[in-house]
Amino acid sequence: MDNSKNLTIPEKGLDRSEVLEMLRSFKEGDANYKDSKTWSLVYYIGEEHTRFLIDAFALYFSENALNPMAFRSLKRMEHEVVRMTAGLLNGDGSVVGTMTSGGTESCLLPVMTYRDRAASKRSFRSGMPEMIAPESVHVAWEKAARYFGVKMVHVPLRSDLRVDVEAVKKRINRNTILIVGSAPSYPHGVIDPIAELGALAQEKGIPFHVDSCLGGFMLPFVERLGYKIAPFDFRVPGVTSISADVHKYGYSAKGASVLLYRNMDYLKHQFFVYENWPGGIFISPALLGTRPGGAIAAAWASIKALGINGYLELARKVMETTAALQEGIRSIPELEIMSNPEMSVFAYRSTSKKVNIYAVGDQMEEKGWLVDRLQRPEALHAMVTPLHERITDQFILDLKHSVEKVKSDPSLAKKGNAALYGMIAKVPLRGMIKKEVLKMMEQIYGPEMKMPY
Ligand SMILES: *Cc1c(COP(=O)(O)O)cnc(C)c1O
Repeated sequence: MDNSKNLTIPEKGLDRSEVLEMLRSFKEGDANYKDSKTWSLVYYIGEEHTRFLIDAFALYFSENALNPMAFRSLKRMEHEVVRMTAGLLNGDGSVVGTMTSGGTESCLLPVMTYRDRAASKRSFRSGMPEMIAPESVHVAWEKAARYFGVKMVHVPLRSDLRVDVEAVKKRINRNTILIVGSAPSYPHGVIDPIAELGALAQEKGIPFHVDSCLGGFMLPFVERLGYKIAPFDFRVPGVTSISADVHKYGYSAKGASVLLYRNMDYLKHQFFVYENWPGGIFISPALLGTRPGGAIAAAWASIKALGINGYLELARKVMETTAALQEGIRSIPELEIMSNPEMSVFAYRSTSKKVNIYAVGDQMEEKGWLVDRLQRPEALHAMVTPLHERITDQFILDLKHSVEKVKSDPSLAKKGNAALYGMIAKVPLRGMIKKEVLKMMEQIYGPEMKMPY
């Protein structure tokens, strides 16, 4: 397709209807989430709810939450979302927080906040501040470490893929500004031992963040449904902050997460004030300057419209679908679920030398499924949403066929993505991978937008 005319601003503006038609046509070849073929990225529960979110978003389309005084409607909604989420996560009246643009911002900010808080108390020695996190912690925390000059200290996982608390303890020193645990972790969907980490953090006087970006709007309902979930929220003494994404299992529009702190003593270090700017005295509660009002309104609307009963019903469906999927996977002798995930996110891998799990992923992709690959160890990933209920049988059938096919044709492990990942696994220096991927990024973001495949 010749795209060259799209690379310059048209001399004469196009018809708006033509522009919209073009936008529609661009979707061809995108991941197919409406047919429940995707296992990450989109939390879609149907057209009716989506239309409703669009309406809510549209009502505050132009409003800007940068200045809490200008659009009091947005501040009010942000406040209500924060309070509703604090209640959901068993926080008391002193819990405070902000809405952010998403999980990443809700992970970046605490690192900056706790770093500056530690600096204000001069509680660390000279040298780099350090944060301690499980190897399975979301990659956003690695990003935070890099952005804010904090040293990431990784802790290995136990055999059940939850963090080893004794190993956390050993890594604490006077430069430790923060401990992080996940509820649950993104790769394997398991909850770290939050109560034990909380006790340790409290004993040592170190802030402790629970990354519940994935679980914040799911685990409380799973628990209410009667599943056994160990306390992971503000009920645990020692937990000083929690992140929970409304744009994941809160089923809101993208661009909405909640970051909560146990009290203002922590949150105040997140605020940015610059009083000498020629543009005026500038205040900003979170990372962004301009903050889209639509995302806040849609988050507020989603929570209000679904309500406890709506979330419970969705959680029930998700948990039943998860159980059905896991049962189907367990019925395939060459596959296993990794550990025993509490929620609706899990990893599955091959137990057979004859079955390369990435080749299985390639086969599934040929059947139209978009499954994410995990590494160290190699596995595939599933994030279950309510609409996966209707495709469970087809998915398991396709998975069975894919495993059979890979088993009968070992050469498949040397083709496609399997070959790529296989090669990566063998590269002796991981630094080389980084170099290669960076090169790829330069091509994708280069003037010619060269996509690798
Ligand atoms: C999704 C996720 C994040 C990052 O959230 P984004 O909204 O993708 O920026 C952080 N932590 C966990 C546990 C997550 O699942």
